[in-house]
Amino acid sequence: MPGFEIFGELEKQHVNEVLETGILMRYGFDGLRNNVWKAKTFEQQFAKKMQVNHCQLVSSGTSALTVALAVAGIGAGDEVIMPTFTFVASFESILALGAIPVLVDVDETLTLHPEAVENAITSKTKCVMPVHMCGSMANIDALKHICKKHNLVLLEDACQALGATYNNIPVGAHGDLGVFSFDFVKTITCGEGGAVVTNNLDLAKKADHYQDHGHDHIGNDRGAERHPFLGYNFRISELHAAVGLAQLQRLDEILSIQKRNYLILRKAIQQIDGVTFRSVPEGGEENYSFLNWFLPTQALAEKAAQALAKEGLDGNFYWYKNNWHYINGWEHLKNATAVSPLSKEISLALHKNKTKDFSKSDAVIGRTVSSLIKLSWTEEEVQKRAGKMVGVLENVLN
Ligand SMILES: *Cc1c(COP(=O)(O)O)cnc(C)c1O
Repeated sequence: MPGFEIFGELEKQHVNEVLETGILMRYGFDGLRNNVWKAKTFEQQFAKKMQVNHCQLVSSGTSALTVALAVAGIGAGDEVIMPTFTFVASFESILALGAIPVLVDVDETLTLHPEAVENAITSKTKCVMPVHMCGSMANIDALKHICKKHNLVLLEDACQALGATYNNIPVGAHGDLGVFSFDFVKTITCGEGGAVVTNNLDLAKKADHYQDHGHDHIGNDRGAERHPFLGYNFRISELHAAVGLAQLQRLDEILSIQKRNYLILRKAIQQIDGVTFRSVPEGGEENYSFLNWFLPTQALAEKAAQALAKEGLDGNFYWYKNNWHYINGWEHLKNATAVSPLSKEISLALHKNKTKDFSKSDAVIGRTVSSLIKLSWTEEEVQKRAGKMVGVLENVLN
């Protein structure tokens, strides 16, 4: 999956163009920058690629989530529905705005179970945040329908699914807002960076202002710009945007290498009795950054992940016992452990997660193993790996 695997001359060339002007900031200094606008150019190209009207680049995927939630009007005491299987940025961004993360079970799509979402809606619910984990997607139509019915914002976290599509439209472009990350282990990287995409001009304008201290960006004198509302600094730098712009040119190539490698592994292990795969909603196409598979029981899946590692097959993740991606490992969240005081309301809501029943999620994530697809493997190497994998899995299952 990671774009850093094919980092090269093109990235250097774009960065050098910025270094030559010395203008590392994305705004202003018009006379000195020699018409180099990396962030602005990246935004235009990314919006086009994602088939949306607007893109706002920011400093990270976590910032992008925070900006998206803020411009959607989510704040103090509002509830945001998010999955039990995700990355910590989901609840971090919700909490940063004084809102309340409501954790909800996942199904075999590895993200939000639509029925569980509907059951979790209260009078305080404002937003549903599916997280398209490990290269594939939520049942977007079902979630769209629920959001429409209950007048909720649909915010897609597509940080791990760049390039995946649903009904031929990129994942991230279906909700009111979509969010991407370009951190160092994502499909394309700029070191640190993120993007908010939307078709809604009002939300796009708010995102543009909010991520730069509330500046309205009217005129060309920064000091004279007005502030229609309070903002923050979530800006990306020109240096980061330059790397991202180069990587964006490689996206199609990255996706096609991933697909080739993924299919080799999948064809090999699908013949093993007991191996099944993550469900992809009808009309969906993965970005092939991970091959996600299930074994019949939790014990077998854990054993398989360990056995693969022992045989030197790295990159087979067992999320159920991982501190980053599954609720099992989020002691700090469940205990509301923060560096500064949280409101009573939030603290109470977080503590509830200690006793909540997430057995439906356990039943899915406990059986899941995700095999990272690398870009640097040659076809021959993947074939070899596939053969080894089959041997290990047959051994575990017999
Ligand atoms: C990486 C990631 C993020 C956050 O992105 P950063 O750029 O690392 O802040 C958010 N959500 C998911 C699902 C991610 O994988």
